[in-house]
Amino acid sequence: MIEFQNVSKTYAGDIAALRDVSFSVGDGELVFLAGPSGAGKSTLLKMIAGIEKPSSGVLLINGQDISKLGASGIPYLRRKLGLILQGQGLLLDRDVLSNVMLPMIVIGESTDDARTRAIAALERLNMLDKADAYPLALSGGEQQRVMIARAIVNRPQVILADEPTAYLDRDNAMIVIEALRAFQRSGVTCIISSHDEQFLDQANRVIYLNKGEVTDAWTSANAA
Ligand code: ADP
Ligand code: ADP
Repeated sequence: MIEFQNVSKTYAGDIAALRDVSFSVGDGELVFLAGPSGAGKSTLLKMIAGIEKPSSGVLLINGQDISKLGASGIPYLRRKLGLILQGQGLLLDRDVLSNVMLPMIVIGESTDDARTRAIAALERLNMLDKADAYPLALSGGEQQRVMIARAIVNRPQVILADEPTAYLDRDNAMIVIEALRAFQRSGVTCIISSHDEQFLDQANRVIYLNKGEVTDAWTSANAA
């Protein structure tokens, strides 16, 4: 459970990125964060990941106030998250398999275990045949699927995806959204930002942001 209670975020220079934002996301939901560029979607996802802190208000994750987490708290929180964030692309000097193994290596898993899980993750994204390829040899849609494999290799409770369909054509965007939905159906909470409204009907819930404020929010009748 993720709960924003009257959260505001002001960056240096008095830039109000989020204003008095309140909503909650239940376990296993698929939530779309919609709204134009600059609305505050990335800021909101970065807060859940512990990368940015609220300037005021409270953000609870599994009942815990993340502003009160100590130095060891954030890495512990991150282990429960699969992140697909802007500016965290694939490492271009390593093949696909090594990229997907990396989050497991970082937390100290053995190379064998990391390889086994990375292979399973790539299989799930239908990308195992590209395990030995280098990222630049892949299409945009394939790179995005590898980033999803990298995000889920540690079996996270929550996947945060910032604009995962940006720069993709409709067919590739659909493959990416379907892949995320498949994880949601197996119990993983997914929070996906998009300025593109074509997939909103796939969500349990849509939260619209504009200029840092929640302007609308609805829950789907066909929530699955
Ligand atoms: P979105 O993801 O919806 O495009 P962002 O969260 O990236 O929105 O940005 C919200 C607002 O905060 C914008 O006005 C943006 O310029 C500003 N902003 C984002 N990150 C920073 C930062 N690190 N420092 C200063 N301003 C920022
Ligand atoms: P395995 O369980 O043998 O790893 P699966 O096909 O069930 O194989 O899953 C493939 C990969 O997808 C897993 O290695 C894991 O990274 C990810 N995954 C599968 N199910 C979940 C889940 N419920 N939550 C998070 N990640 C998952």
